[in-house]
Amino acid sequence: MRHIVIVGAGQAGSLLALGLLGEGYRVTVVSDRTAEQIRDGRILSNQCVFEPALAHERSLGLNHWDGEVPPVEGIAFDAGMPGSADPFISWVAPLDNPAQSVDQRVKMSFWLNEFVRRGGELRIGRATPEDLEAYAREADLVLVAAGRGPQFDSVFPRDDKRSTYTQPQRGITLQLVKQDPAAFYQGVTFGLVPGVGEFFVLPVLSVAGPAMGLYFSAVPGSPMDVFDGVTDAEQHLALCQEQLRRFFPWSAPVAERAESGGPLAVLTGRITPIVRHGVGTLPSGQHVLAMGDTAITNDPIGGQGANNAVHCARIYQRLITEHGDRPFDAEFMDRCFEAYWGYARHSTRFNNDLLEPPPVHVLDTLGAAQEFPEVAHRFAHLFNDPTDYEPWLADPETAQAYLREVAERVA
Ligand SMILES: Cc1cc2nc3c(=O)[nH]c(=O)nc-3n(C[C@H](O)[C@H](O)[C@H](O)COP(=O)(O)OP(=O)(O)OC[C@H]3O[C@@H](n4cnc5c(N)ncnc54)[C@H](O)[C@@H]3O)c2cc1C
Repeated sequence: MRHIVIVGAGQAGSLLALGLLGEGYRVTVVSDRTAEQIRDGRILSNQCVFEPALAHERSLGLNHWDGEVPPVEGIAFDAGMPGSADPFISWVAPLDNPAQSVDQRVKMSFWLNEFVRRGGELRIGRATPEDLEAYAREADLVLVAAGRGPQFDSVFPRDDKRSTYTQPQRGITLQLVKQDPAAFYQGVTFGLVPGVGEFFVLPVLSVAGPAMGLYFSAVPGSPMDVFDGVTDAEQHLALCQEQLRRFFPWSAPVAERAESGGPLAVLTGRITPIVRHGVGTLPSGQHVLAMGDTAITNDPIGGQGANNAVHCARIYQRLITEHGDRPFDAEFMDRCFEAYWGYARHSTRFNNDLLEPPPVHVLDTLGAAQEFPEVAHRFAHLFNDPTDYEPWLADPETAQAYLREVAERVA
């Protein structure tokens, strides 16, 4: 039986581990935390997962929360100027199929227990780059799904050609708060104030039941970039409310009567988007393969990271099983990573462009979406399927031609 070692039990690692277990592989997961530690720990993400990724989880029987999780029904977009009382663009587009946000503490702790229940081997410990040598000797294939950050820099260096940034592009902060679901739109509310940043709110199924994710994405140095060092949850919520009233006054009521989710429900930081070389060569010459955020990290602005992690697990699982008994050599790993990049390059481009000031053709498109529901529908579904971005909005001519075509057809 072929033996696969996966370092990291997050969205990418756990999903691949459970998928391969179901295909009859011997799978070992190395996790730095137990299921209980994950569940009892700090929030990890806003984790909005869209339908194509949910479909893969469902195919593995891992859609444990379908009856419980509040459906994320659509995208409500507003753009305003700093200081304005009302947005100059405002539209809502239902998603064809709802998305879901299950608190990763709930999801990952359940999946880790499920992995063991289904016969997987779990080792608790924080793997180092040096540990990968021993795993590579004992297993047919080693994957590193240990999330973002520099810990495996020496194994998976930055790909300078594919990486756009060397610095974080947003100061981000999230609090999962208690709020009456009737008080906010049960979809993703996406607010944009050019030059200041973005605001997102969405329903989440958290450890204590339904909650509301309150997320700010501040342009570094902008007047909304004020959350660093605010660790007290009550003060953090008060600051969120203040920033909403100041920059997104039309959305301020969503948080007015919210209650703090407590000290573990606050997360603040900055993420440098990076694309790495996904095949690592260890000092001994053995190779290991990166997945999820360890391979490609995006800023959370486009809600793509957890979705990428699912698609990465889906793509790798298919290629691993199709490979049969042949050796998992560097050429195979390269094929896996390039197949993943073939998908993720679209979400990365979409995501990175969201970090930039919106160009005229994008503002025109967002404006036209107010008038033409099909434009709003198409934009909203970029979050589901970012492969539509490049052939459409990456090119000003194509984007404007589409708007003219819609206007003529609908007139
Ligand atoms: C505030 C915020 C909001 C976000 N919102 C969204 C969103 O709405 N939609 C979306 O799609 N994405 C979102 N993301 C991104 C998303 O959460 C990540 O892209 C996704 O979780 C990546 O999954 P992963 O499995 O690659 O890594 P992770 O989820 O980070 O999992 C890595 C796992 O490996 C473990 N680990 C780490 N190091 C080691 C080690 N050395 N040895 C053993 N185990 C280790 C960790 O404990 C963890 O369990 C958001 C991120 C943030 C920070």
